[in-house]
Amino acid sequence: MQNILRFTFSELKQIFMDNHVPVSRAYQIFNWIYRKFVFDFEAMSDLPKDLRSLLKRDFFIQSLKLSEVLKEKSGETMKFLFKTEDLLYIEAVLILAEEDDETKESRMTLCVSSQAGCPLGCVFCATGQMGFKRNLSTDEIIAQILLAEKKVLDEKGNKDALAAKRSISNIVFMGMGEPLLNVESVLKAIKILNFSGGYNLGSRHFTISTAGIIQKISALREEKIQLRLAVSLHSAIQKKREILMPIASENPLPELMEAVRDYQKSLERRVTFEYVLLRGENDSEEEVEALKEITAGIDYNLNVIAYNPIPGLPYQTPTEKELQAFLTLLKKHNIPFVVRRSKGREINGGCGQLGLYWEQKKQAV
Ligand code: SAH
Ligand code: SF4
Repeated sequence: MQNILRFTFSELKQIFMDNHVPVSRAYQIFNWIYRKFVFDFEAMSDLPKDLRSLLKRDFFIQSLKLSEVLKEKSGETMKFLFKTEDLLYIEAVLILAEEDDETKESRMTLCVSSQAGCPLGCVFCATGQMGFKRNLSTDEIIAQILLAEKKVLDEKGNKDALAAKRSISNIVFMGMGEPLLNVESVLKAIKILNFSGGYNLGSRHFTISTAGIIQKISALREEKIQLRLAVSLHSAIQKKREILMPIASENPLPELMEAVRDYQKSLERRVTFEYVLLRGENDSEEEVEALKEITAGIDYNLNVIAYNPIPGLPYQTPTEKELQAFLTLLKKHNIPFVVRRSKGREINGGCGQLGLYWEQKKQAV
């Protein structure tokens, strides 16, 4: 038995050809799974009965169970808690409507996980604090997206799967884990979701967020895929960054910036630097000056995110006044920025809070 979500269209086509099944059947299956979000071969009514039986014998469709959906009162975000087959909890957060920085169009963004836990241990991040469990497989990455789509469809009261189509317009790897440490599965999932006869979401609509692993950024550039790159910076001062993000020691800022510059130039895409504002830690003018200096020659946008509090961690969220003071410094130094108003905080679905729920659940057992 194999999980069918693991296969690209060409791979499935090849399997069908090898087994003398018409290629048109592969198109139909992609249509059911990736456009109508139907995960049961039996319900694929336009497939011949004997083919359905064969498919059921050789393949299965899902690998994650949707364990819980939490909705924020404002209705702006939904958090999905999924259970893997080996009983790990992973999470995804759906941001129902926000403006796209580049196109200014309204978009629906799903923030997905690439790993269960994370081995990088950033000191302000709940996922980092829970430690590393394992990499997610391609099908587990895809399942997060398909199950979220299905939920949106159900919420709309659209019982007619025939009329279904994709709702999510952007996918960001900003959930649990470091996507560049699981890059093979991540890129394969993107490739599968690209397919025009299926989910049909172009690479430009995917963002990979990384803590900044130089060699992996360079390798990704070589792939020449039009992905959006987001690099978590959090400090432009090497010593400070090393305290916040242990991975920074092996990935010093000058080399990291060079790798990002090369990526930005070779793909001709603006990159994002993420900056979690921690009160009294990285909000000084010295930081802003250093930021200006290290980012010279890079086309970027700084995403300022006020720290989402994690119980037990010693960091604090800046007050609105402190946040504004930092933004004033950014303006003074001509640094292009947007403020990410943290969504999902009340359901622990804000950036870096993923994993909190998992811990709570564990304690309750
Ligand atoms: N591992 C990748 C992607 C997942 S983390 C990375 O670090 O980039 C996604 C984003 O959430 C990162 O920018 C991370 O720094 C940020 N984040 C982590 N903890 C946070 C917290 N407590 N408050 C706000 N943002 C946080
Ligand atoms: Fe891992 Fe990103 Fe959290 Fe750092 S911020 S521990 S890299 S998930």
